[in-house]
Amino acid sequence: MTRIFDLVVIGSGAAGSAVARRCRAAGWTVAVVDKHPLGGTCALRGCDPKKVLVGAAAALDAAQALDGKGISPNGLAINWPDLMRFKRTFTDPVPQQRKDSLHHAGIETFQDVARFIGPTQLSVGDAALEATRAIAVAAGAKPAPLDLEGREHLLTSDDFLELPSLPSTIAFVGGGYIAFEFAHIAARAGARVTIIHRGERPLEQFDADLVEHLVDRTRTAGIDLRLRAEVCAITAVGRGYRVQFDGAGGGDIDADCVVHAAGRVPDLDDLQLDVGQVERSRDGVRVNRFLQSVSNPNVYAAGDCAATGGPRLTPVAGYEGRVIGANILEGTNTAIDYAAIPSVVFTIPPLARVGLGEGEARKAGLRFTTRYEDTSTWYSSRRVAERASAFKLLIEEDSHRLLGAHLLGPHADETINVFSLAIRLGVTADRLKQMLWAYPTHASDITSMV
Ligand SMILES: Cc1cc2nc3c(=O)[nH]c(=O)nc-3n(C[C@H](O)[C@H](O)[C@H](O)COP(=O)(O)OP(=O)(O)OC[C@H]3O[C@@H](n4cnc5c(N)ncnc54)[C@H](O)[C@@H]3O)c2cc1C
Repeated sequence: MTRIFDLVVIGSGAAGSAVARRCRAAGWTVAVVDKHPLGGTCALRGCDPKKVLVGAAAALDAAQALDGKGISPNGLAINWPDLMRFKRTFTDPVPQQRKDSLHHAGIETFQDVARFIGPTQLSVGDAALEATRAIAVAAGAKPAPLDLEGREHLLTSDDFLELPSLPSTIAFVGGGYIAFEFAHIAARAGARVTIIHRGERPLEQFDADLVEHLVDRTRTAGIDLRLRAEVCAITAVGRGYRVQFDGAGGGDIDADCVVHAAGRVPDLDDLQLDVGQVERSRDGVRVNRFLQSVSNPNVYAAGDCAATGGPRLTPVAGYEGRVIGANILEGTNTAIDYAAIPSVVFTIPPLARVGLGEGEARKAGLRFTTRYEDTSTWYSSRRVAERASAFKLLIEEDSHRLLGAHLLGPHADETINVFSLAIRLGVTADRLKQMLWAYPTHASDITSMV
């Protein structure tokens, strides 16, 4: 029997939930389908559980940094099983809470793989669903398939966040934000950690000078960072693994576990998009600037699975979901705007950016001055004995508008939001300098930065 809904949403993460709720609030009948327990990546396998682990690692690091400055951290350690239990108090309730909340809103849920069986129809397990007004594809992302001998030995980021005990040695394949964040957690928790990255520099989306400071800090935290090193094979050796790599002198390292941190791709392969006449590229469902499929006007896509060119972050997924909702309900006229979206690497300390990088600003032909300074001797860093601390601001020459802000150091993850607000609202550096901030806070450093 075919079940009929106004809207069928594939995915219960930030993007899917946003569009489902918006259309349901307008009185539409809505179904949400997810092949995993409801909740999506961020709440179950991404941002939220990760930040719980970062919190413990940062607490330990903060105590160690103040060794001899009023704290005796001897014997202080992370108890991994306890920490995982604490983490599960956040993740375990999510699927039921999400289900209850969607049902409470009048949205029906299905837990199975969705596949297109026509331009407006999907199969979900034994059921067939027909969407009379729209289908929203919000299927998220998965680890990129790697053409690598021994890839079956790799753990995913999902697996890392579920490790019942902490392995003594861990190797991360790839040098993006997931590798850095997890490596910083694992090193503070007592593991010997290696990151193997094939590029010249890791964290390529972030400011190169600030990344250099973070690389130093990463190494002094005991993390072995191999650059220009490409993993070519992983073999099982005894109870662990040998990771062979080319470049950077070549060689191999042994580890108890090897984690895939070499990028994520849209999770679209199950969907039979061709049957639904939905075109895709390597970057995801091909959409116009209103997030509508370029080949099937009944279909919209948002979040990590859509080829929008936007950053793959939770707030962006939610925003795109809301834009789809507006376009479906009110006619396709709300275009997406990616200005001033902050992005953070939750290392210890965190690295953050918003707006343009120096290269991007130059490419756009903008005339700007760069303010770049190592702030490790500033009060807010010295007070907590943090040596990796710096900022870079790009300020447009004539208008004095802020074009970009890049921060590394304590509270960079919070302070970047102030710059995001300033850039989005077109606040000039002069106006920002006139602000009175609560003191002593990291935001109060903004006066000196601008
Ligand atoms: C380890 C990690 C850490 C991260 N940390 C951060 C962070 O700190 N801050 C941040 O902003 N972002 C972070 N992200 C990114 C963020 O999690 C994603 O950008 C966001 O969750 C994307 O939301 P979404 O709604 O597009 O997809 P998802 O939340 O991934 O939801 C997609 C859902 O679709 C379902 N699905 C897929 N295919 C099908 C199918 N055929 N049938 C049925 N269901 C299907 C999946 O099961 C999934 O639940 C992190 C990601 C990871 C992996």
